[in-house]
Amino acid sequence: MPPVVRFAPSPTGYLHLGNARIAVVNWLFAQKEGGRLILRIDDTDVERSEARFEAAIREDLTWLGLSWQQEVRQSDRTALYEAAFARLVAEGRVYPCYETQEELAALRERQRAAGQPPRYDRRALALSPTDRARLEAEGRRPHWRLLLPEGEIGFGDLLLGPRRFPTASLSDPVLRRADGSATYLFASAVDDADLSVSHVIRGEDHVTNTVLQLAIWAALGEEPPAFAHLPLISDAAGRSFSKRLGALSLRALREQGIEPMAIVLTLAALGTAEAADPALGMSDLVARFSLEAYGRAAPKLVVDDLPRFSKAVLHHLPFAAVASRLAALGLDRADEAFWCAVRGNLDRLEDARDWWEVCTRPLRPVIADPELLAAAAELLPQDVGDEAAFTAWIDALKVRTGRKGKALFRPLRLALTAREHGPELKHLLPLLGRDRAWHRLRGETA
Ligand code: GLU
Repeated sequence: MPPVVRFAPSPTGYLHLGNARIAVVNWLFAQKEGGRLILRIDDTDVERSEARFEAAIREDLTWLGLSWQQEVRQSDRTALYEAAFARLVAEGRVYPCYETQEELAALRERQRAAGQPPRYDRRALALSPTDRARLEAEGRRPHWRLLLPEGEIGFGDLLLGPRRFPTASLSDPVLRRADGSATYLFASAVDDADLSVSHVIRGEDHVTNTVLQLAIWAALGEEPPAFAHLPLISDAAGRSFSKRLGALSLRALREQGIEPMAIVLTLAALGTAEAADPALGMSDLVARFSLEAYGRAAPKLVVDDLPRFSKAVLHHLPFAAVASRLAALGLDRADEAFWCAVRGNLDRLEDARDWWEVCTRPLRPVIADPELLAAAAELLPQDVGDEAAFTAWIDALKVRTGRKGKALFRPLRLALTAREHGPELKHLLPLLGRDRAWHRLRGETA
């Protein structure tokens, strides 16, 4: 059976590098294994979930170049959670609890003071039907907890290896809130079973959720999926990443002009022994992908390296990967020759516009060496796109003027582009065309 994976963001904010990494690894896994990726919008927190964040998630994932085969939203699936919950009630796997948040906080405080781990003490199990009737008459509505089994819950993590957790250290998880809604923990387990998710690949911060969800799957009589928990990212100083997430949203990086492919390559390499290679494309990444390549140690992500790496990626991008983006910049007539000539000089894709103007708009040349330029105009070959003719032209200029190296090339460049640096002249000349080049060499605005 081809694997089924899911990426399950909560639409409570913009995607950041931490969750984008989970998306990238799930996508690569699905691509490599010929499986399916489901985008699941985890919007059980109605108060914090917003439609604009949901739209932004789709947009940001698409910007990264990721795609998915199916999409579901938890708020559309409440009937499924109701049905699963009813089964657990019928089988006596869950029990109603009436404590308020304040009462639970007070319990935790007492436990802390007594040096005990904070854990729900199952006091609601002792309630008699009369007690419950009295509480309900007071207007209290129950939330429902799953009764965890005695002993241990274990699983074999594809990355972390075998894991075992004594249930005595855990609180019975709440599956249904007092308002009747399903919690994330429950909805997610029901969804993963219903959607036949075969592999749950997510951050190590979810290990405790995995243990609790294993208990939910067992109570529902469902086979659990396989698990791979990726160690969380730390920053350059080794601190946990989560604190600075605001600045690291994909949106913010996009606004800085960071290439999406640079982000995908960086995130895919993070935690593996391989350094990110700016020359790779999506299909190379898929071909090289292996889940087992991800290590157990928290990988460091040095965000300040991203602009430089992004530049390196840009210099390798094929025309096909940028054609529509160039068109969106208004460069709809830019072709492969233009792109290949200029890409090595760009910091950001938008900089291509500047070179497009150099090639297609009148420009006032900068005249540094009139004698050399007069000779250059006179000897300019008929076919400026012919590389042999270009070489012959340069050789003839050396002989005629005695200039070489920088003394030769700098005045030519300044006249042709009015810039000190840029793409190789041999590639620029055909983009300018003979006529424009000839006028500029003569010091004329052209
Ligand atoms: N909505 C959860 C999150 O964003 C999903 C975790 C998961 O089950 O993958 O952390």
